[in-house]
Amino acid sequence: MQRIYLDHAATTPTRPEVVKAMLPHFTNAFGNPSSIYSYGQEARRAVEETRTQVAKLIGARSEEIIFTSGGTEADNFALKGVAYANEPKGNHIITTSIEHHAVLEVCKFLGRRGLKITYLPVDEYGLVDPDDVRKAITAKTILISVMHANNEVGTIEPVAEIGKIAREAGIYFHSDAVQTVGHIPVNVAELKVDLLAISGHKLYGPKGVGALYVRKGSKLSPLMQGGEQEKRRRAGTENVPAIVGLGKAVELAGQEMGKETERLIHLRDKLIKGLGEKIDHIRLNGHPKKRLPNNVNVSVDFVEGESLLLNLDLEGICASTGSACSSASLEPSHVLLALGLPPEQAHGSLRFTLGQENTEADIERVLEVLPGIVARLRAMSPLSKTQK
Ligand code: PLP
Repeated sequence: MQRIYLDHAATTPTRPEVVKAMLPHFTNAFGNPSSIYSYGQEARRAVEETRTQVAKLIGARSEEIIFTSGGTEADNFALKGVAYANEPKGNHIITTSIEHHAVLEVCKFLGRRGLKITYLPVDEYGLVDPDDVRKAITAKTILISVMHANNEVGTIEPVAEIGKIAREAGIYFHSDAVQTVGHIPVNVAELKVDLLAISGHKLYGPKGVGALYVRKGSKLSPLMQGGEQEKRRRAGTENVPAIVGLGKAVELAGQEMGKETERLIHLRDKLIKGLGEKIDHIRLNGHPKKRLPNNVNVSVDFVEGESLLLNLDLEGICASTGSACSSASLEPSHVLLALGLPPEQAHGSLRFTLGQENTEADIERVLEVLPGIVARLRAMSPLSKTQK
Protein backbone atom coordinates (compact mmCIF):
# COMPACT_ATOMS: atom_id res chain seq x y z
CA MET A 1 0.00 0.00 0.00
CA GLN A 2 1.27 3.44 -0.90
CA ARG A 3 1.71 5.65 2.15
CA ILE A 4 0.39 9.21 2.03
CA TYR A 5 2.12 11.42 4.55
CA LEU A 6 0.02 14.43 5.57
CA ASP A 7 1.65 15.38 8.88
CA HIS A 8 4.37 17.84 7.84
CA ALA A 9 3.73 20.08 10.86
CA ALA A 10 4.96 17.20 13.03
CA THR A 11 8.07 16.62 10.95
CA THR A 12 9.21 16.62 7.33
CA PRO A 13 11.33 14.08 5.43
CA THR A 14 14.96 15.15 5.15
CA ARG A 15 15.59 16.07 1.52
CA PRO A 16 18.14 13.94 -0.35
CA GLU A 17 20.15 17.09 -1.20
CA VAL A 18 20.32 17.82 2.53
CA VAL A 19 21.52 14.30 3.38
CA LYS A 20 24.14 14.56 0.62
CA ALA A 21 25.45 17.83 2.02
CA MET A 22 25.63 16.37 5.53
CA LEU A 23 27.41 13.09 4.74
CA PRO A 24 31.03 14.31 4.34
CA HIS A 25 30.80 15.92 7.77
CA PHE A 26 30.43 12.48 9.38
CA THR A 27 33.44 11.06 7.56
CA ASN A 28 36.19 13.02 5.73
CA ALA A 29 35.31 16.47 7.05
CA PHE A 30 34.80 15.43 10.67
CA GLY A 31 36.88 18.16 12.30
CA ASN A 32 35.94 20.14 15.38
CA PRO A 33 35.22 23.75 14.36
CA SER A 34 37.19 24.94 17.42
CA SER A 35 40.43 23.27 16.23
CA ILE A 36 42.88 25.58 14.53
CA TYR A 37 44.34 23.09 12.01
CA SER A 38 42.79 22.84 8.57
CA TYR A 39 40.38 19.97 9.42
CA GLY A 40 38.89 22.16 12.10
CA GLN A 41 38.82 25.22 9.93
CA GLU A 42 36.97 23.36 7.17
CA ALA A 43 34.26 22.51 9.68
CA ARG A 44 34.26 26.11 10.94
CA ARG A 45 33.74 27.37 7.39
CA ALA A 46 30.80 24.99 6.91
CA VAL A 47 29.17 26.16 10.14
CA GLU A 48 29.65 29.83 9.24
CA GLU A 49 28.24 29.27 5.77
CA THR A 50 25.04 27.95 7.33
CA ARG A 51 24.91 30.92 9.67
CA THR A 52 24.97 33.20 6.63
CA GLN A 53 22.29 31.13 4.86
CA VAL A 54 19.92 31.19 7.84
CA ALA A 55 20.49 34.91 8.35
CA LYS A 56 19.83 35.59 4.66
CA LEU A 57 16.50 33.74 4.70
CA ILE A 58 15.13 35.85 7.58
CA GLY A 59 16.82 39.18 6.81
CA ALA A 60 19.21 39.04 9.78
CA ARG A 61 22.99 39.48 10.16
CA SER A 62 24.92 36.24 10.49
CA GLU A 63 26.26 37.14 13.96
CA GLU A 64 22.64 37.31 15.15
CA ILE A 65 22.11 33.55 14.57
CA ILE A 66 22.85 31.06 17.37
CA PHE A 67 22.59 27.35 16.61
CA THR A 68 20.58 25.20 19.01
CA SER A 69 19.39 21.60 19.24
CA GLY A 70 16.03 22.59 17.73
CA GLY A 71 12.93 24.69 18.20
CA THR A 72 12.40 23.65 21.82
CA GLU A 73 15.86 24.78 22.87
CA ALA A 74 15.53 28.01 20.88
CA ASP A 75 12.25 28.82 22.70
CA ASN A 76 13.72 27.87 26.09
CA PHE A 77 16.79 29.98 25.42
CA ALA A 78 14.72 33.02 24.40
CA LEU A 79 12.39 32.94 27.38
CA LYS A 80 14.74 31.85 30.16
CA GLY A 81 17.62 33.82 28.66
CA VAL A 82 15.66 37.10 28.78
CA ALA A 83 14.06 36.31 32.16
CA TYR A 84 17.40 35.55 33.86
CA ALA A 85 19.35 38.40 32.28
CA ASN A 86 16.69 41.01 32.96
CA GLU A 87 15.73 40.07 36.52
CA PRO A 88 16.59 43.48 37.91
CA LYS A 89 14.38 45.20 35.32
CA GLY A 90 11.16 43.25 35.75
CA ASN A 91 9.42 39.94 36.22
CA HIS A 92 6.43 39.96 33.89
CA ILE A 93 6.04 37.99 30.64
CA ILE A 94 3.13 38.24 28.20
CA THR A 95 2.32 35.25 26.02
CA THR A 96 -0.75 33.56 24.52
CA SER A 97 -2.87 30.57 25.44
CA ILE A 98 -2.16 28.85 22.09
CA GLU A 99 1.64 28.67 22.15
CA HIS A 100 3.46 25.40 21.63
CA HIS A 101 4.43 23.54 24.81
CA ALA A 102 8.03 24.63 24.18
CA VAL A 103 6.87 28.12 25.20
CA LEU A 104 3.95 27.36 27.53
CA GLU A 105 5.85 24.90 29.72
CA VAL A 106 8.76 27.34 30.05
CA CYS A 107 6.30 30.03 31.14
CA LYS A 108 4.80 27.65 33.71
CA PHE A 109 8.32 26.84 34.93
CA LEU A 110 9.19 30.52 35.27
CA GLY A 111 5.80 31.16 36.91
CA ARG A 112 6.62 28.59 39.59
CA ARG A 113 9.82 30.53 40.26
CA GLY A 114 7.97 33.75 40.97
CA LEU A 115 7.61 35.43 37.54
CA LYS A 116 4.21 36.78 36.59
CA ILE A 117 2.86 35.38 33.33
CA THR A 118 -0.10 36.78 31.37
CA TYR A 119 -1.68 34.27 28.97
CA LEU A 120 -3.66 36.24 26.41
CA PRO A 121 -6.85 34.76 24.93
CA VAL A 122 -7.49 34.35 21.19
CA ASP A 123 -10.64 34.79 19.12
CA GLU A 124 -12.63 31.97 17.49
CA TYR A 125 -10.07 31.80 14.65
CA GLY A 126 -7.08 31.67 16.96
CA LEU A 127 -6.02 35.28 16.42
CA VAL A 128 -4.40 37.34 19.17
CA ASP A 129 -5.61 40.95 19.40
CA PRO A 130 -2.61 43.33 19.41
CA ASP A 131 -4.68 45.67 21.59
CA ASP A 132 -4.81 42.98 24.28
CA VAL A 133 -1.01 42.87 24.16
CA ARG A 134 -0.82 46.64 24.60
CA LYS A 135 -3.23 46.57 27.54
CA ALA A 136 -1.36 43.75 29.29
CA ILE A 137 1.95 45.66 29.40
CA THR A 138 3.04 46.85 32.86
CA ALA A 139 6.14 48.66 34.13
CA LYS A 140 7.52 45.20 35.01
CA THR A 141 7.05 43.56 31.56
CA ILE A 142 10.35 42.27 30.19
CA LEU A 143 9.21 39.99 27.38
CA ILE A 144 6.34 39.37 24.97
CA SER A 145 6.19 35.98 23.22
CA VAL A 146 3.67 35.38 20.43
CA MET A 147 4.08 32.58 17.88
CA HIS A 148 4.24 33.47 14.18
CA ALA A 149 1.82 30.73 13.14
CA ASN A 150 0.06 28.12 15.21
CA ASN A 151 1.17 24.54 14.63
CA GLU A 152 -2.29 23.02 15.15
CA VAL A 153 -4.78 25.30 13.40
CA GLY A 154 -2.34 27.15 11.13
CA THR A 155 -3.50 30.67 12.04
CA ILE A 156 -0.90 33.33 11.21
CA GLU A 157 -0.68 35.91 14.00
CA PRO A 158 -0.35 39.70 13.58
CA VAL A 159 3.27 39.54 14.67
CA ALA A 160 4.41 42.74 12.91
CA GLU A 161 1.72 44.78 14.71
CA ILE A 162 2.64 43.25 18.06
CA GLY A 163 6.32 43.85 17.29
CA LYS A 164 5.61 47.54 16.78
CA ILE A 165 3.90 47.74 20.18
CA ALA A 166 6.78 45.90 21.87
CA ARG A 167 9.43 48.06 20.18
CA GLU A 168 7.66 51.29 21.19
CA ALA A 169 7.43 50.06 24.79
CA GLY A 170 11.09 48.95 24.81
CA ILE A 171 10.16 45.35 25.63
CA TYR A 172 11.85 42.26 24.18
CA PHE A 173 9.69 40.44 21.62
CA HIS A 174 10.10 36.76 20.85
CA SER A 175 8.26 34.82 18.17
CA ASP A 176 8.21 31.06 17.72
CA ALA A 177 8.54 30.83 13.93
CA VAL A 178 9.10 27.07 13.81
CA GLN A 179 6.10 26.57 11.51
CA THR A 180 6.79 29.54 9.23
CA VAL A 181 10.51 29.84 8.45
CA GLY A 182 11.09 28.17 5.10
CA HIS A 183 7.35 28.10 4.36
CA ILE A 184 6.22 31.73 4.17
CA PRO A 185 8.34 34.89 4.04
CA VAL A 186 9.84 35.77 7.42
CA ASN A 187 11.78 39.00 7.83
CA VAL A 188 12.95 39.92 11.33
CA ALA A 189 13.08 43.65 10.55
CA GLU A 190 9.52 43.71 9.19
CA LEU A 191 8.22 41.62 12.08
CA LYS A 192 10.14 43.79 14.58
CA VAL A 193 11.17 40.76 16.62
CA ASP A 194 14.21 40.61 18.91
CA LEU A 195 14.18 36.83 19.15
CA LEU A 196 12.91 34.23 16.71
CA ALA A 197 12.95 30.42 16.98
CA ILE A 198 13.67 28.11 14.01
CA SER A 199 13.68 24.30 13.73
CA GLY A 200 15.48 22.23 11.07
CA HIS A 201 13.14 19.25 10.84
CA LYS A 202 10.09 21.35 9.99
CA LEU A 203 11.68 22.58 6.76
CA TYR A 204 13.05 19.35 5.27
CA GLY A 205 16.26 19.53 7.28
CA PRO A 206 17.49 17.09 9.94
CA LYS A 207 16.02 16.68 13.43
CA GLY A 208 17.85 17.93 16.50
CA VAL A 209 19.06 21.21 15.04
CA GLY A 210 17.63 24.71 15.01
CA ALA A 211 18.54 28.30 15.61
CA LEU A 212 17.63 31.33 17.63
CA TYR A 213 17.81 34.75 16.04
CA VAL A 214 18.97 37.25 18.68
CA ARG A 215 18.84 40.88 17.62
CA LYS A 216 22.16 42.64 18.09
CA GLY A 217 22.44 44.23 21.54
CA SER A 218 19.85 41.96 23.21
CA LYS A 219 20.69 40.89 26.77
CA LEU A 220 20.33 37.13 27.17
CA SER A 221 21.76 34.68 29.71
CA PRO A 222 23.12 31.49 28.13
CA LEU A 223 21.41 28.24 29.10
CA MET A 224 24.59 26.18 28.74
CA GLN A 225 27.90 26.85 30.41
CA GLY A 226 31.08 25.27 29.09
CA GLY A 227 33.24 26.07 26.09
CA GLU A 228 33.32 29.31 24.16
CA GLN A 229 31.24 28.16 21.17
CA GLU A 230 28.70 30.51 19.58
CA LYS A 231 30.58 33.48 21.11
CA ARG A 232 29.93 32.08 24.62
CA ARG A 233 26.19 32.15 24.07
CA ARG A 234 25.70 28.38 23.65
CA ALA A 235 28.45 26.09 24.92
CA GLY A 236 29.04 22.66 23.39
CA THR A 237 30.78 21.34 20.28
CA GLU A 238 28.65 22.26 17.29
CA ASN A 239 26.59 19.50 15.62
CA VAL A 240 28.34 20.18 12.33
CA PRO A 241 26.53 17.64 10.07
CA ALA A 242 23.13 18.80 11.31
CA ILE A 243 24.05 22.47 11.03
CA VAL A 244 25.23 21.90 7.45
CA GLY A 245 21.95 20.08 6.75
CA LEU A 246 20.00 23.03 8.13
CA GLY A 247 21.97 25.32 5.84
CA LYS A 248 21.13 23.27 2.75
CA ALA A 249 17.45 23.04 3.74
CA VAL A 250 17.26 26.79 4.27
CA GLU A 251 19.01 27.49 0.95
CA LEU A 252 16.53 25.26 -0.95
CA ALA A 253 13.54 26.73 0.90
CA GLY A 254 14.62 30.23 -0.07
CA GLN A 255 14.89 29.22 -3.75
CA GLU A 256 11.60 27.35 -3.99
CA MET A 257 9.25 29.04 -1.54
CA GLY A 258 7.00 31.18 -3.76
CA LYS A 259 6.09 28.48 -6.27
CA GLU A 260 5.69 25.78 -3.65
CA THR A 261 3.44 28.03 -1.55
CA GLU A 262 1.08 28.50 -4.49
CA ARG A 263 0.96 24.76 -5.15
CA LEU A 264 0.24 23.97 -1.50
CA ILE A 265 -2.50 26.59 -1.21
CA HIS A 266 -4.20 25.01 -4.21
CA LEU A 267 -4.02 21.52 -2.64
CA ARG A 268 -5.06 22.84 0.78
CA ASP A 269 -8.13 24.59 -0.60
CA LYS A 270 -9.08 21.58 -2.68
CA LEU A 271 -9.03 19.44 0.47
CA ILE A 272 -11.00 21.97 2.55
CA LYS A 273 -13.64 22.31 -0.17
CA GLY A 274 -13.90 18.57 -0.79
CA LEU A 275 -14.25 17.74 2.91
CA GLY A 276 -17.03 20.33 3.27
CA GLU A 277 -18.88 18.90 0.26
CA LYS A 278 -18.53 15.23 1.12
CA ILE A 279 -18.97 15.19 4.90
CA ASP A 280 -21.78 16.88 6.82
CA HIS A 281 -21.34 18.29 10.33
CA ILE A 282 -17.71 19.23 9.71
CA ARG A 283 -16.09 22.63 10.26
CA LEU A 284 -12.76 24.25 9.57
CA ASN A 285 -10.69 25.26 12.61
CA GLY A 286 -8.38 28.27 12.40
CA HIS A 287 -8.60 31.37 10.22
CA PRO A 288 -10.03 30.82 6.71
CA LYS A 289 -7.52 33.21 5.07
CA LYS A 290 -4.74 34.04 7.54
CA ARG A 291 -3.54 30.45 7.65
CA LEU A 292 -0.45 28.45 6.72
CA PRO A 293 -0.42 27.32 3.06
CA ASN A 294 -0.28 23.65 4.09
CA ASN A 295 -2.68 23.45 7.05
CA VAL A 296 -6.15 21.89 7.09
CA ASN A 297 -7.68 21.42 10.55
CA VAL A 298 -11.29 20.28 10.82
CA SER A 299 -13.65 19.13 13.56
CA VAL A 300 -15.86 16.21 12.60
CA ASP A 301 -18.92 15.97 14.83
CA PHE A 302 -19.94 12.71 16.56
CA VAL A 303 -16.59 10.95 16.07
CA GLU A 304 -13.31 10.70 17.96
CA GLY A 305 -10.19 12.08 16.26
CA GLU A 306 -8.20 9.06 17.48
CA SER A 307 -10.57 6.64 15.73
CA LEU A 308 -10.33 8.69 12.53
CA LEU A 309 -6.52 8.58 12.71
CA LEU A 310 -6.38 4.81 13.23
CA ASN A 311 -8.78 4.19 10.35
CA LEU A 312 -6.86 6.56 8.06
CA ASP A 313 -3.66 4.76 9.06
CA LEU A 314 -5.20 1.46 7.88
CA GLU A 315 -5.57 3.17 4.49
CA GLY A 316 -1.94 4.31 4.59
CA ILE A 317 -2.78 7.95 5.36
CA CYS A 318 -0.83 9.73 8.14
CA ALA A 319 -2.53 12.70 9.80
CA SER A 320 -2.82 14.09 13.31
CA THR A 321 -5.41 15.21 15.84
CA GLY A 322 -3.24 17.92 17.35
CA SER A 323 0.41 18.65 17.94
CA ALA A 324 2.72 15.65 17.65
CA CYS A 325 3.88 16.10 21.21
CA SER A 326 0.39 15.63 22.64
CA SER A 327 -1.03 13.14 20.16
CA ALA A 328 -0.30 10.28 22.56
CA SER A 329 -2.55 11.88 25.19
CA LEU A 330 -6.32 11.94 25.12
CA GLU A 331 -6.58 15.41 26.66
CA PRO A 332 -8.34 17.79 24.28
CA SER A 333 -5.96 20.19 22.55
CA HIS A 334 -5.34 23.39 24.54
CA VAL A 335 -5.37 25.31 21.25
CA LEU A 336 -8.83 24.14 20.18
CA LEU A 337 -10.20 24.79 23.67
CA ALA A 338 -8.72 28.32 23.53
CA LEU A 339 -10.59 28.88 20.24
CA GLY A 340 -13.77 28.15 22.20
CA LEU A 341 -14.51 24.64 20.89
CA PRO A 342 -16.42 22.43 23.32
CA PRO A 343 -14.29 19.40 24.39
CA GLU A 344 -16.28 16.94 22.23
CA GLN A 345 -15.56 18.99 19.08
CA ALA A 346 -11.93 19.35 20.09
CA HIS A 347 -11.78 15.56 20.44
CA GLY A 348 -13.14 15.12 16.92
CA SER A 349 -10.45 17.23 15.28
CA LEU A 350 -8.25 16.14 12.43
CA ARG A 351 -5.18 17.95 11.13
CA PHE A 352 -3.70 17.41 7.68
CA THR A 353 -0.48 19.28 6.95
CA LEU A 354 0.69 19.00 3.37
CA GLY A 355 4.20 19.03 1.99
CA GLN A 356 6.53 18.75 -0.97
CA GLU A 357 5.81 15.13 -1.85
CA ASN A 358 2.01 15.51 -1.85
CA THR A 359 0.06 15.55 -5.10
CA GLU A 360 -3.52 16.08 -6.30
CA ALA A 361 -3.89 12.29 -6.21
CA ASP A 362 -3.12 12.26 -2.46
CA ILE A 363 -5.89 14.79 -1.80
CA GLU A 364 -8.29 12.82 -3.99
CA ARG A 365 -7.46 9.65 -2.06
CA VAL A 366 -8.28 11.33 1.28
CA LEU A 367 -11.55 12.62 -0.17
CA GLU A 368 -12.31 9.13 -1.41
CA VAL A 369 -11.72 7.25 1.86
CA LEU A 370 -12.53 9.70 4.68
CA PRO A 371 -16.30 10.08 4.09
CA GLY A 372 -16.70 6.29 4.35
CA ILE A 373 -14.65 6.14 7.56
CA VAL A 374 -16.73 8.95 9.11
CA ALA A 375 -20.00 7.27 8.11
CA ARG A 376 -18.86 3.95 9.60
CA LEU A 377 -17.74 5.50 12.86
CA ARG A 378 -20.89 7.58 13.18
CA ALA A 379 -23.03 4.50 12.65
CA MET A 380 -21.32 2.97 15.71
CA SER A 381 -21.30 6.15 17.79
CA PRO A 382 -23.86 6.61 20.57
CA LEU A 383 -23.20 10.37 20.26
CA SER A 384 -24.51 10.56 16.71
CA LYS A 385 -27.76 8.71 17.54
CA THR A 386 -28.68 11.01 20.39
CA GLN A 387 -27.49 14.32 19.05
CA LYS A 388 -27.80 14.23 15.28
N1 PLP B 1 7.33 25.35 18.27
C1 PLP B 1 6.40 24.92 17.42
C2 PLP B 1 5.35 25.88 16.93
C3 PLP B 1 6.39 23.60 16.96
O1 PLP B 1 5.46 23.19 16.10
C4 PLP B 1 7.41 22.72 17.44
C5 PLP B 1 7.39 21.28 17.05
O2 PLP B 1 6.35 20.66 16.94
C6 PLP B 1 8.38 23.22 18.32
C7 PLP B 1 8.31 24.53 18.72
C8 PLP B 1 9.49 22.36 18.83
O3 PLP B 1 10.50 22.22 17.84
P1 PLP B 1 11.55 21.00 17.91
O4 PLP B 1 10.79 19.76 17.57
O5 PLP B 1 12.60 21.35 16.90
O6 PLP B 1 12.10 20.99 19.29
